[in-house]
Amino acid sequence: MSKLKYESPVIKKMNAGLMNKFGTRTEYQPLKHIDGVAVKDMIAKYGSPLFVLSERKMRNNYQAALRAFKTRYPKVQFAWSYKTHYNNAVCNVYHQEGSWAEVVSGFEYQKALKNGVPGNKIIFNGPDKSIDELNEAIKNDSLIHIDHFDELYTLIELSEKAVKKPRVAIRVNMDTGIYPLWDRFGFNYENGTAWNAITKIVASGKLNLVGLHCHIGTYMLAPWAYATAASKLCDLAWHAKNQLNNPVQYIDLGGGFPSANTLKGAYLPGSDTVPHIEEFAEAIASTIIAYGFKPDELPLLILESGRALIDDAGYLLGTILANKRLSDGRRATILDFGVNMLFTSFWYDHKISPAQDFTHHSEDQVLYGPLCMNIDVIRESVNLPLLNKGDQVVVHKVGAYNMTQWMQFIAMRPNVIMIDMKGETHLIRQKETLQYLEMPEEMPLHLKEFKL
Ligand SMILES: *Cc1c(COP(=O)(O)O)cnc(C)c1O
Repeated sequence: MSKLKYESPVIKKMNAGLMNKFGTRTEYQPLKHIDGVAVKDMIAKYGSPLFVLSERKMRNNYQAALRAFKTRYPKVQFAWSYKTHYNNAVCNVYHQEGSWAEVVSGFEYQKALKNGVPGNKIIFNGPDKSIDELNEAIKNDSLIHIDHFDELYTLIELSEKAVKKPRVAIRVNMDTGIYPLWDRFGFNYENGTAWNAITKIVASGKLNLVGLHCHIGTYMLAPWAYATAASKLCDLAWHAKNQLNNPVQYIDLGGGFPSANTLKGAYLPGSDTVPHIEEFAEAIASTIIAYGFKPDELPLLILESGRALIDDAGYLLGTILANKRLSDGRRATILDFGVNMLFTSFWYDHKISPAQDFTHHSEDQVLYGPLCMNIDVIRESVNLPLLNKGDQVVVHKVGAYNMTQWMQFIAMRPNVIMIDMKGETHLIRQKETLQYLEMPEEMPLHLKEFKL
């Protein structure tokens, strides 16, 4: 039997109450396997830290969301939000499931095309589309979602020389009862700007108004806000048909459905408080169906859900570098991954599980990343078993946004792997090297040499 490690005694304040429905010890289960693959084997093979994606979980999430909407509404189409996670292997999982692409920049648009998404199944959102990008989107019959009047006028101008009539929708912002209002994108509903844009498009005769779009926020906890949004879009669609004789083919409610992560400062864990995707589907579908369209004239319902479909399919594996006592006596644990690769730790209290068995000691501790920067804190205070140098941990629900918002500040980005349906692991993004990092750099001649 190996000798147990000595842990110095500490005095602990006991907190009564403050439990969630699973009791107080939910973070005390070791997580040794993901989809049947051993955490320690993955770290041994691919290094630490390491991002892991579960293909099974992604497909299950997609199918559950599609089922939730399809059983309540006859015509449903999902479009994968590239900015949520644009690794090509990840995008192709959703495309294989039947998802179109939703992009908010020129390079995302190119990625979708290169992945093989037909141009007419790419939705082009965002306030910044260049002339070249718009021309290409027109040529490819893509769905161009107009953000502002300047873009609308540009499109009318471009349509003069284009061989095809651009297919467009407008992005609408509105008061959904959630504050602060997201009114910086698109045209406002309440003050009439959205209707103004619609009439201009139809009157121009140059653009084909095929849809109406909104994206009311992200990590939205209120299904009724979507009912409000759906009803306002239906209202515009109704008037476009009856007043302008321009029925729209689709209504796009965007994304924003929450994952089960826990927001910082939340009283209860996200898994207890976040509504199920079926509640959002119910709110949206019942509103559109009850609005008054004839059954054969119901618009196609498009959804651009990102976060809710991938967050819990992503894990970050890491290793303990050291632990120390802070001057106030608190225990601090230093991990080998920081906020540069876990951007979402700024607003989520990510659940973290040890990846091996541990003693029955536990202590409130602060989890630091390895960066030389004071804000590099993964958890300000979490009660965890005592983790020691070389121990491994798993961070849960990191699939959304981290692998697009990450940066190589101080530490470079690590390997990313996917576990397929059979439990095989595949490298889907190599860890970065100094050569990769310096590739775009140029050295002026006069700075090439120095003597010290
Ligand atoms: C970011 C974004 C989405 C995806 O949002 P999630 O919160 O990840 O579901 C969808 N549509 C648009 C226009 C977006 O900007």
